[in-house]
Amino acid sequence: MKTSFLNRREALQCLTGIATGATVLYGSSRSASAAIWYGEEHEAEQRGIKVEKLTDDISLLIGVGGNIAVLVGKEGVLQIDAGNPGTSPQQIAGLKQLTDKPVVTLVNTHWHGDHTGGNADMAKAGSRIFAHDNTRKRLSSEQFIEAFNSKVPASPEIALPILTFSSSLTLYHGGEELHLTHVPPAHTDTDIFIHFAKANVLHAGDLFFNGMYPFIDSSTKGWVGGMVGAADKILAVADDKTKIIPGHGELGTKEQFKQYRDMLATVHERITPLVKGGKSVEEVVAAKPLADLDDKWGKGFMKPDVFVKIVYGGIKKFGI
Ligand SMILES: [Zn+2]
Repeated sequence: MKTSFLNRREALQCLTGIATGATVLYGSSRSASAAIWYGEEHEAEQRGIKVEKLTDDISLLIGVGGNIAVLVGKEGVLQIDAGNPGTSPQQIAGLKQLTDKPVVTLVNTHWHGDHTGGNADMAKAGSRIFAHDNTRKRLSSEQFIEAFNSKVPASPEIALPILTFSSSLTLYHGGEELHLTHVPPAHTDTDIFIHFAKANVLHAGDLFFNGMYPFIDSSTKGWVGGMVGAADKILAVADDKTKIIPGHGELGTKEQFKQYRDMLATVHERITPLVKGGKSVEEVVAAKPLADLDDKWGKGFMKPDVFVKIVYGGIKKFGI
């Protein structure tokens, strides 16, 4: 039997500790193999959805999984990410506060279920889904998230992106120009970020957890060095006025994103030599190599010891 990357207590910390209350379960019918992401409680979903306007046309839908961006145009709505499974009614209620137009295009930032949970519902309602090549591949077959010891079943055909790309894509919608850019494996091997060039808004997906240690999914090739590389690509696009939407947490500034990038680089620099030096994961966790960072970054759902374990595992697989 495959053992979990985290012990049971740590997995439960992940499940119950998320500050935002975000929750991801794959599908409403939970089997023993149901994949569990960031929490078991649907707190935010019970509270409903929060709508935050960023510009006249661009808004955030918050509280049903990963942060969702919507762009309202004459031709309909373009939406980035689709929340947790089972949250389509809340998403629709949020959208209704902005427009009566339907969602005609959905973009997934990556394959995780708290960003693709509404795919099937939205496709049934007529949305076209766009994403990176690897997002379609990951969604098309069963996945295994080692950190949570959970299998993720393949998605139904209707939930799969119908247009995929390998490195970059430009979309025109509502008078806006959206640049979609893939990065080498970082949070997963499916990540893209999206820059709304005219409005200067950037959706970073789970390349950015604002103000907290991120989850990094080494089972689908994520690792901390890749997170640093992806952050540098985003910094090259952003300027001091860019509004940066994280996958989780509050809307960020470039300054906040830079601090987050520097934290990741420090984590990478500190833990790599310990892995290379042959220390076991238990020894590295016990050494508390991030003790001075924990106060600022370790109060989100990803607790410090769990984060160290995840970083260690990713570096061991991909960083040495
Ligand atoms: Zn994710």
